[in-house]
Amino acid sequence: KPLDLTAHLERIVDDVKYEAEENGLEIRLNSISRPVTVMADARRITQVFINLLTNAIRYTASGGTITVEIEERVVERNALFACVSVIDTGIGIPAEELLHLFDRFYRVEEARSRHTGGTGLGLSIAHHFVRAHGGFIQVSSQPDEGTVFTVNLPIGSSTCAADTAIQIVQWRKNV
Ligand code: ATP
Ligand code: MG
Repeated sequence: KPLDLTAHLERIVDDVKYEAEENGLEIRLNSISRPVTVMADARRITQVFINLLTNAIRYTASGGTITVEIEERVVERNALFACVSVIDTGIGIPAEELLHLFDRFYRVEEARSRHTGGTGLGLSIAHHFVRAHGGFIQVSSQPDEGTVFTVNLPIGSSTCAADTAIQIVQWRKNV
């Protein structure tokens, strides 16, 4: 079904705002002020972003910021994608862990994340749902600086090659 990602993300960000603020985090949405329509299952897309936002809240210390950005981009082979980034200023993820993040039950061997009781399923579910929509996920992170997850969903008949399911992107400050 057609889904307006801009409006949908406004609702999702609203739903987690209280939890973010309770944890001393600022959360903001930078969206383009027009609909970005993708063919998608609203409930699964909600689950994807709730999982990413829950992580951003859990793995960012008080005083940090979470930013959600929506844009439309032409990626490989002239295909148009809706790209939603969840950017945090949290603990970050070591480079050697990035490839395993999306495995079921995988959690980074890190005291701070071990203390928070997750099961290690959130990202594997998010990845599975994004793949089911013909999309892909990018991740970029720097320990002690933050993490960016970008969910790319096809617009129209755009598709992506199987080997782009997960892309690890070089960290840039102020992405
Ligand atoms: P669950 O989501 O099932 O409650 P979880 O959060 O541990 O548990 P995932 O969401 O799959 O599991 O994340 C896997 C691991 O990746 C986390 O345990 C954490 O170590 C790391 N991680 C995920 N998101 C972030 C982030 N935004 N910043 C830092 N580390 C992260
Ligand atoms: Mg999680």
